[in-house]
Amino acid sequence: MENCLFCKIRDGEIPSSKVFENDVVLAFLDLNPVNPGHVLLIPKKHSETLSEASPDDASELMRVVPMLMNSIMKATGASACNIGVNNGKLAGQVVFHTHLHIMPRFENDGYDIWHGKPYESEDRMKEVAEKIRGQIPA
Ligand code: 5GP
Ligand code: ZN
Repeated sequence: MENCLFCKIRDGEIPSSKVFENDVVLAFLDLNPVNPGHVLLIPKKHSETLSEASPDDASELMRVVPMLMNSIMKATGASACNIGVNNGKLAGQVVFHTHLHIMPRFENDGYDIWHGKPYESEDRMKEVAEKIRGQIPA
């Protein structure tokens, strides 16, 4: 994919601090980390968003996440981490090559978790669940 930042990082055309790779995925440090040790994990094969990635690529991304989390936590002394995916522009995605953020968390690091809000009614909740079930492929 031409002009894709993360394809260029994959190909070594743009330098990065790589921490792990295998045939399918690559992990490197985020240039503007939430905390030091913030890693981006990408499939080597270009896809724009996680929802467009192949099930095999998505599986491999998630398969290596626990190992990477543990390595990052041991290396940084963090006792927790968040993983995040910004899937699409409205969700905050800026680089359109599928990636997971793995972010080590520290006591009093100034970050919050996002806050939910309840459904307006139980019927509305049932309706939403029904709609999603209706979109699950057979
Ligand atoms: P997004 O908002 O698309 O989920 O996240 C893109 C991430 O890529 C951001 O956290 C940003 O700091 C990181 N980033 C942007 N440009 C570069 C770069 O050239 N190298 C590295 N290593 N990370 C980058
Ligand atoms: Zn790409």
